[in-house]
Amino acid sequence: MTANLDPKLTDVLSRLADEFGTPLYAYDEDRLTNNYNDFVQSFNVKKIKVHYACKALNNLSILKLFKSLGSGLDCVSEEEVYLGLHAGFQASDIMYTPNGVSFEEIQRVMEKGTGITIDNLSMLEKLGATNPNYPIHIRLNPHLMAGGNRKISVGHIDSKFGISIHQMPHVLRIVKNYGLNVAGIHVHTGSDIIDKDVFVRVAKLILGMAENFDTLNSVDLGSGFKVAYKEGDMFTNISELGLAFSDMFNQYCQDIGKDITLRFEPGKFLVSNAGYFLTSVNVIKQTTSCTFAGVDSGFNHLIRPMFYNAHHDIVNLTNPQGDPKLYSVVGNICETDTFADNRMIPEIREKDVLVFKNAGAYCFTMSSNYNSRRRPAEVLFNAKDYKLIRSRETFEDLLKGQL
Ligand SMILES: *Cc1c(COP(=O)(O)O)cnc(C)c1O
Repeated sequence: MTANLDPKLTDVLSRLADEFGTPLYAYDEDRLTNNYNDFVQSFNVKKIKVHYACKALNNLSILKLFKSLGSGLDCVSEEEVYLGLHAGFQASDIMYTPNGVSFEEIQRVMEKGTGITIDNLSMLEKLGATNPNYPIHIRLNPHLMAGGNRKISVGHIDSKFGISIHQMPHVLRIVKNYGLNVAGIHVHTGSDIIDKDVFVRVAKLILGMAENFDTLNSVDLGSGFKVAYKEGDMFTNISELGLAFSDMFNQYCQDIGKDITLRFEPGKFLVSNAGYFLTSVNVIKQTTSCTFAGVDSGFNHLIRPMFYNAHHDIVNLTNPQGDPKLYSVVGNICETDTFADNRMIPEIREKDVLVFKNAGAYCFTMSSNYNSRRRPAEVLFNAKDYKLIRSRETFEDLLKGQL
C-alpha cells in the first residue's frame, strides 16, 4: 500500500481541493526547483546546458520557472517553440527537435533562430540546398535497445526517430556537398532507461561520431531518465550517472582540445514527481467480484495508466487512516478507463479526494476533451503560497472555433 502524504503536503492539497475543486492538477514549485538543481549539479563539466523538454508539462508558469533557474527548452513542434518564446526564452536557448514535420515548418522555426535538430536525410538535403549556413544538429539513432516500454522506446532498429548510424557515410556526403554547418549531434534513446551504463555507452558512440565534424560545438544526449513511480521502483540515479559520465566527457574534451557543450533534455525527471492529480470520488460501486471507486475524471485527463500501463500511486487524502481495502479505481467516461486494478487503499467513501502521484509529466499535456468534458485547472504551490496557473475549462471553451 502507498504511504500517506506527509502532513504538510496533505494540508496544502486539501486546501487546494477545497478552494479550486476537482479534478485539479497541482505542482510543487520547490520540488521542480530541486529536481532541476540536482540534475545540473550532478555533472561536473565545463559547459552544460539543460533544455527542459516542454512536452512533459507546458504550462507557461512552469516554463518561466525553468527559465528563471537557467534552463533552456526542448521543443518538438513549432507551437512549442512559440510557447517557449512567449514564456521569455531566448531563441538561442531553444532546441527544436521535431520528427516527421514538413520542411516548411522547419523553415518557419529557422526564422526564429532556434537550435534545430534534423532527424532524416531528406530534410538534411533540403536544408543544404536552401540554407547551408544555418547551424544544425543531427539526430542519430544508435540502435541500442533501451527504454521500459515499446511505445516510448525510440532507439531500436525500426524506430522512426533519428538517422541510423549505419547511414553515417551518407550523412557525411550531404554535409560535405553542401558545406553544412553541423553545430552538434543529438541522440535520444527513449524513456525509462535505468542502466547508467547504457548512457555512457551511447555517449561514447556519439562522441566517436562527433569527430567527423570540425564545426561541432555541442553534443546532446537527450533524455530517458527513469523516475520511481512506487516504493522500491528502479530509477536513474542521476548523481551516479553524473559521476561516471563527467570524467569520460572531460577526458574527451581534453583529447579533442576544445570544451564542447554537453546538452540534456530531461522532461519526466524534472517534473514527474512534482505533480499531483486530485480527483473526487463520485460513487462507490460494489459488485460481486470487486469494489469500484468511480472518480470525477478519466483517461481524458490522465491517460498514462491506460496508454502505457503506467502505475500511479493513489492516496486517499481525506481518509488516510481508513481501514485499507482493495479497490478498482475507475473514471467516469464511457470507455473502460481503469486507473488502478485491485489496489489497497484506505477505505474510500463517496466524496473522498484521491490523489494520484507522479502527475507532473505527460499528464495534463496529454489530456483531451473526450466525452465533451472540460480539462482540469492547474495550480502551482510552494512552502508559503499557491496560485492558479490555468483556469478550469468552461463550456464556452468547447464551443470555441466551431462554426
Ligand atoms: C520527449 C523528449 C524528451 C524528454 O523525455 P523524458 O523521458 O520526458 O525525459 C527529450 N528529448 C526529446 C527529443 C524528446 O522527444
